[in-house]
Amino acid sequence: MTGRWQPDLDRGIPPLGTAEGDPSTEHRVGALTLAGMLVLGALMGGINLLVDGVLTEGTGRWVYGATMVALLLMAVPLLVRQRADRWHMFALVLLGDLIYVVVVLCVDDPLRYATPLMLLFPAFVAAWFLGPWELGVNMVATTVACLVGLWPSYENAVGLAVQVGVSAGMLNTGALGVFVLRRRVQRLLVATETLTRLDPLTGLFNRRYLVEHSPRMWRQARRDGSRLAAMVLDLDHFKRLNDAYGHAAGDAVLREVAAALAAAVRPSDVLARTGGEELLVLGQVADPDEALHLAERLRAAVAGSVTPDGHAITASVGVALARPVDGQDPTDELWRLVDRADAAMYEAKQQGRDRVVSLWVPRARTPLAGGLVPSRGDAG
Ligand code: GH3
Ligand code: MG
Ligand code: MG
Repeated sequence: MTGRWQPDLDRGIPPLGTAEGDPSTEHRVGALTLAGMLVLGALMGGINLLVDGVLTEGTGRWVYGATMVALLLMAVPLLVRQRADRWHMFALVLLGDLIYVVVVLCVDDPLRYATPLMLLFPAFVAAWFLGPWELGVNMVATTVACLVGLWPSYENAVGLAVQVGVSAGMLNTGALGVFVLRRRVQRLLVATETLTRLDPLTGLFNRRYLVEHSPRMWRQARRDGSRLAAMVLDLDHFKRLNDAYGHAAGDAVLREVAAALAAAVRPSDVLARTGGEELLVLGQVADPDEALHLAERLRAAVAGSVTPDGHAITASVGVALARPVDGQDPTDELWRLVDRADAAMYEAKQQGRDRVVSLWVPRARTPLAGGLVPSRGDAG
């Protein structure tokens, strides 16, 4: 199989910010989540400034107060830009660990007023928004922060080690669980989205995919200064085949034709099943000749398929060309192009089926060799 006829489900989870889907949405959600956590942390932490006996007197109080203000200030650019990329988030996660350490150093009784549970915020942000190695780094940072946080409260090394192990272990296991869950959810989303773009019978792309993807092809052709060819293929007398051999045999033929076409298209072409026994190929071409040769290759690929008792299957192919220019609406223009290819396909039916008809070459009296039949003018 050579063409873009089916997406690859095994490509795995795209890293944050680089994937299909909408990375900007992910960035926005990440930024707003972080900003919310920073504001919440600052407000909750700020309460300690009002309670006697929580903070150490002198510098500790001032450092603590400045840290809470810094938390609020850090939320501002996130709220304004509504964007945080991977590195930005990673830096904020590590800063979250550091802030915990600062808080530990500023409170009188860290075990009471600076519980390691505060590290849950950076741990979950890392687990949900970052990749495996950033999560690994944060797990180490969490363990170190737990050690610093619990150190003043335990004189016995074994007791300290057990408490650090319990706190860091719970935080890191929780984060790991969130990370695995997030990957599963993301994988499921990618698979579901992919399946909604596929035709279940043939595995080819469906109309929905074309609607979403084809404007991009139009823009690409405009950037490349090339033409876009639409080829509509409709199997000939397919109803007869169903009547003669049954619907299941018809389905098998459709699958076989799909596989033959997938092998015939070029890697950059898009092949889709747009209706019952109707298929569409969209691809960039340099000139009308290239479009006609590709269409002829598709016709020949279908003609190589056979019915259950060995009869050849044929298709009528209509070709239309367009040269995208600036200022056009890609969606409108594309469906106009497909409509023209459809009209050419009906012309091919009229002229006897099993042939390629284009809409740009003046009509010839006799079919060209290999089934090519030019029709009325408009080279696109
Ligand atoms: P023409 O050469 O004019 O295209 O004739 P045709 O019989 O192919 O065209 P028509 O539109 O009359 O019939 C198309 C048939 O395709 C009707 C329907 O039974 C069949 N068909 C549509 N979808 C499927 C499908 O998913 N599976 C099967 N087995 N048949 C299908
Ligand atoms: Mg049809
Ligand atoms: Mg048909």
